[in-house]
Order: sequence, then C-alpha cells, then structure tokens
Amino acid sequence: MTTLTDAKAMAKAMSLIDTHCHLDFTDFDMDRNEVIDSCSNVGVNTIVVPATQQSTWQRTLDLPFSAKTSDSVQQVALYVALGLHPVFNDAHQPQHLLELEQLVIEHSPIAVGEIGLDFHTSMNLSSAQKDKQLAYFEKQFVIANTHQLPVIIHNRKAHDECIKIIKSFYDNGYRKGGIIHAFNGSIQQAEHYIALGFSLGFGGMLTYPRSSKLQALVKAIPIDNIVLETDAPDMTVMAQRGQRNSPAYLPDVARAVALYKSLDVAEIAKHTTRNAQTVFGLSSP
Ligand SMILES: [Zn+2]
Repeated sequence: MTTLTDAKAMAKAMSLIDTHCHLDFTDFDMDRNEVIDSCSNVGVNTIVVPATQQSTWQRTLDLPFSAKTSDSVQQVALYVALGLHPVFNDAHQPQHLLELEQLVIEHSPIAVGEIGLDFHTSMNLSSAQKDKQLAYFEKQFVIANTHQLPVIIHNRKAHDECIKIIKSFYDNGYRKGGIIHAFNGSIQQAEHYIALGFSLGFGGMLTYPRSSKLQALVKAIPIDNIVLETDAPDMTVMAQRGQRNSPAYLPDVARAVALYKSLDVAEIAKHTTRNAQTVFGLSSP
C-alpha cells in the first residue's frame, strides 16, 4: 500500500509515460480531468491515447484540447494515436482507411494505432474475419510507413503472423518501430520484435504474483526494450483489482518491473521513459 507521502516523493523522483491508455473511452466521461490530475500527483506526466475505431477518432483527437481546465491537467501531456483496432473488426469499412490517412496528414498523430491482430480462440473467428484483420493491419501499416510513423500493435494469438508482416515492411526499409502492447508472447517472439525495432509494453497484469510468464519475460527482455502502460480502463493492477483501471496506477507497474529486474524503481522510470520518448520521437520533459 502506497501512502500519499510516498506517492508524492515518488512523483518528485521520477517521471513516467503511460504508453497505452484509452482515456477517450466513455468510462472516463464523468471524471476524466480528475483522473488526469491524479496522474500528475504520482509522476505520470505523459499519456498516449490510442484510438480504436473510426467513430471515436474525432473525440480522441479533441482530448488534448478539451482536458485543459486545471493547472495539473496542463502538466500532463496527452498524445493521440489513430487506428482501427482488430477487436472492432466488424465496424471497420474501406473508407475508414482513406479517412485515417487524411487525419494522419491533417493532425500528425504520434503513431498509427491501435492496430493489429486478435486471433483469440474464444472469438471463433471465420477465415474471412481473419483475412479482414490481416488486410486492415497491413493497410494501416502502409499508412504508417508512408508517413513515417511508429505503430502501436495489439496482438493476441497471432504473433507469428504479426512478425511476418512487420518483417516484410522492415525488409523494405521501415525503421520507425513501435510498441507491442501488453506483450505476452514467447521470449523468442520478443527477440524477433526487438530485432525489428520494437519495444514491448507491460502493464497491470505484471503486478499479480501469479503472472509467472510475464515475470520471466520481464527478467529476460533488456530494459532498453521495455515500456510501461496501463491499458486503462481495462487490466487493472492488483492493488486496485475489481476497480476501473487508471493511468495513475502506472507507478505500480514500474515497481513490478523494478522487482523482477532487481533494479531501483527510479532506474526503471528513467529507462522506460527514455524508451517511450525514443519510440514516439518525444523530447525529454
Ligand atoms: Zn488498447
């Protein structure tokens, strides 16, 4: 349990970047600015918000401008990524890809995302649905490549397909890399992603003692390839289980990485913040 004094001391000691937070979701409509305020109190001073489907792009783009009512809200930088998420596959239409490219040109988002593949078996996907996911992933990757943006990738049960697609772009000169969010693949797959210029995102699941696979991954993956995320409002940390997740819980993830890396949490903050700044081309705060 972290006391307020601990949290404030920690906030002074480090700055953290939440590389994946769905702050645009309606879950935050009632108290979005309070949530952002609570971030500045614990050292989370940058939040990346990846959009998930065409119907929410405008709302997500407006977020950095609408959330500016108090001093501490202004101390937290919000950045937007735009993309079509594979879980919302059925909602995506070909004209959304044209619109995405137009918005990329007009608004210069920080990345293309959240894009990717979700072949989770419980979804009982038909081969046509899988083909659609693959096509939208590749077409959005083309947009990222054309406009030289990194990508934020969601992947479940399809790492080999994903690596193959990234490799085909890499072999044709794509070097912007990106983040494999909520990484839960094998160490060999992690090595492939790293060789292709990607960082691996870890979040709230790592704070659960039963997460032995994630613990082993964090131990094995070099600290220079790890970034922190919350994926709020989903995937909350153990200390807040049953509650809505919040970007303000990111220090719990940093502490978990510190534990399994046997490094000081300030060291973890320094490295993961620098890694996220490198991925997204951000300057130091
Ligand atoms: Zn997400």
